[in-house]
Order: sequence, then C-alpha cells, then structure tokens
Amino acid sequence: MPERLFVCTPSKLGAFLDCPRRYRYSYVDRPTPPKGPPWAHNSLGASVHTALKNWFTLPPERREPGALPTLLKSTWVREGYRDVELERAAYRKALDWLETYVANLDPEEEPLGVERVVAAKTSVLALNGRADRIDARTGESGPEAVIVDYKTGRSGLDADDARGSQALALYAYAAQRVFRRPCHRVELHHLPTGTVAAHEHTDESLARQVRRAEETAQDIMAAEKAVAAGADPDESFPVNPGSLCGWCDFRKVCPAGSGVAAKEPWTAVEHLAG
Ligand code: SF4
Repeated sequence: MPERLFVCTPSKLGAFLDCPRRYRYSYVDRPTPPKGPPWAHNSLGASVHTALKNWFTLPPERREPGALPTLLKSTWVREGYRDVELERAAYRKALDWLETYVANLDPEEEPLGVERVVAAKTSVLALNGRADRIDARTGESGPEAVIVDYKTGRSGLDADDARGSQALALYAYAAQRVFRRPCHRVELHHLPTGTVAAHEHTDESLARQVRRAEETAQDIMAAEKAVAAGADPDESFPVNPGSLCGWCDFRKVCPAGSGVAAKEPWTAVEHLAG
C-alpha cells in the first residue's frame, strides 16, 4: 500500500521544526491542552491582515486612504491588550502603517489572489496554505505570480528572511501549479517600516525547500507511528526549550516551558504606546 500523503500547511511544518512538543500539543493531543491567553500582537496582525484583505474587495474607485478607518475598525480584534490606552495606541499605529502602505498600491491593480488558499501535492505531501496576497506581475519572461506576505512585528526583515522562509517557498511552489504560471519571487512586506524584503527563487531552490518539507513530514509521521506503536509520546515529540518558550501558548503545560519567565500578552506591542 502506498503511504498516505501527509496533509499539512506551512505553519504545521514550521511548528514541528520550532519545537516537536509544541507540534504535539497543537496537532496530536486531543483534547488540545489548555492554551494561555490571546496575544495582543496576534490581534494586531490579524486586524491589519483583514483590513488589507477587505481593501481589495472594494471597487478600485473606493480604494483610497479615507476608507481605511472604517476597514480597520470593523476588523479590529481587541484581545490581549493591557488596557484601552495601549489598544488605542496600537490602532493609531496600525492605521498609520496602512495609510503609508496603500499610498504605494495601484488601486487599479487586481491581485491574482488575496488570502488565497493554494494547494499542491508531492509524493509525500498534500500541501495547502493561505497566502496573504499573490500578485500578477510581468517578469523578464512574461506573466508571473509573486507571493506577498504581510508582517507587522517589531523588527524589520531582510532578504535572508525572504530567502529562508519555507512557508513563502511552499506558497510559491503551490501557486505555480494553481495559476499555471511561473512563481519564483517571494516578498515580505513589513508594514511598520514600509520596507519590502524580497528573494528570487530558482526551480532548484524551490525544489530544495519542498524536499526539506517532505523530510519534516517524514519525521512527523515517524514520531506519530512510534507513539501509535506504544513509544513514549514525550520522547517521540521532545521539547526544544529556548527563546520561543516565553511566547508559547503551551508554556504552562510544558515541563520545559513552565520554568521560563512568562511574557505578558501585550509585551510585543508595548513599544507602540511610546
Ligand atoms: S514551552 Fe518551549 S519547549 Fe515547551 S512546547 Fe512550548 S516551545 Fe516547546
């Protein structure tokens, strides 16, 4: 019997690479262990992403900065902020970022996809994922698709981040198949600084990322099989303690994380009030 394909998103694979134990808590253990409270930075990211998604649902003549306060207000996620003052400061910053960002968008330009699910199969993976935006551009050899990922974190990003992102490469791999056009360019659009970090993949570098994703999937399947055969789940999905633990949703239930100093749900956005 052929092995079943491993159904996954880039974030599922990324969770295992970051920490196998976190992967187990998120995707294997049922019921899911209790998570910590929601994070303000996730709320902020989700609000900005949805506002940008809805921007593209407006007809081109209504895509002007005056539309942004309504878009942002209607998608604003309130969870995780310390208090209303910090939440308001984050809202004002987010609005600033969006105003600067859309000033550089051509309202007439329609992306190939916005929050678009792309999917592809390999001999190991049934891959799917939701790309923030897939642009239609004209490259040197004709029409191409470009993967755009919005970022709202504090620190800026560079070309190495775009090059190294497995998620972006997997989106590009899948987008080529879905849209039947080349897709090699991946871009991280960092809204707080208004910068774009880009990388041009080759067919080889995309294939390399797919191979790595397949290897990760094989490691996950091996761990799951071992547990099904009676192995100790804690050994098959080991902890990977480190700087991520303070931000981990499962810090309280994890033996490695419970000793790590907790971050407040609003820590990553506190600077916005300054
Ligand atoms: S607290 Fe740290 S070691 Fe534990 S699951 Fe989370 S990231 Fe992994």
